[in-house]
Amino acid sequence: MILGVDMGGTKTELIVYDGEKFDFLEKFPSNKENLRSLPERVNKLVKSYGIEALGIGVAAWMRKGKIIKTTNLNVEYLNFNFSVPYIMENDANCFAYGEYKEHEDEEVKNLIGITIGTGIGGGLIINGEIYRGNGLAGEIAHTTVFSKEGEKRCSCGRTGHLETHFSGWSIEKRFGRDVETLMREDEELIYNIEGFEILARSIANLSLILDPDLVVFGGGVGRNLNADRVKGAIKKYLLPEFEPKILISEEEYMGAKGAALLAQKRFRL
Ligand SMILES: [Zn+2]
Repeated sequence: MILGVDMGGTKTELIVYDGEKFDFLEKFPSNKENLRSLPERVNKLVKSYGIEALGIGVAAWMRKGKIIKTTNLNVEYLNFNFSVPYIMENDANCFAYGEYKEHEDEEVKNLIGITIGTGIGGGLIINGEIYRGNGLAGEIAHTTVFSKEGEKRCSCGRTGHLETHFSGWSIEKRFGRDVETLMREDEELIYNIEGFEILARSIANLSLILDPDLVVFGGGVGRNLNADRVKGAIKKYLLPEFEPKILISEEEYMGAKGAALLAQKRFRL
């Protein structure tokens, strides 16, 4: 049995994987107390489920297996004192890998995974493997974009980045309300802000660079986007010769699932 953990900026989600199917266990806020006591909680699950290894997706920039920066998660609260071996991977990479395994049969080899939750995550799969570059590849959130609204301060400390225009935190800042409620109350709202066009342009640009088979969106905000709206907006900026499949993920816990699949691969379980 493998435990998959997805530590996002807002929520942490846990699933178990027996090599065939996934079972959702629980989710809780990624606050100080919960992050600090995570090993305690996990070590209990290790005993009760007979967990052999953990796969942990974390909303962090990683290089050579180490966290070098977190933008939407307080790194001081993280505690990795687990009783079984674990792997740690950027959460968007976990999502992208999970989606890749989901679509592997459809001859998908190259994939862009975009998670939009508190922030924006980007994961790249090239020829069936996570492409990390020197560790940070795919950080589309912090690419500099053009906006008529000028430059705003980003979660990373710089200004003018994609994440300042279309992410959970930036939408909440703009409207002063929580993004889930906003999306529920007015379905049109987020498609009418300039940030949605900026997102579409950025994804189209990345698609021209990688020419992927599939672009898939996940995360709390991403999974609730309208597929037709997203496709229409991206296609406006894509050249007609580029035809990636564009999907909204159907899986609710794909970050945690991908993390478990990566642990399975690493520890040959
Ligand atoms: Zn940034």
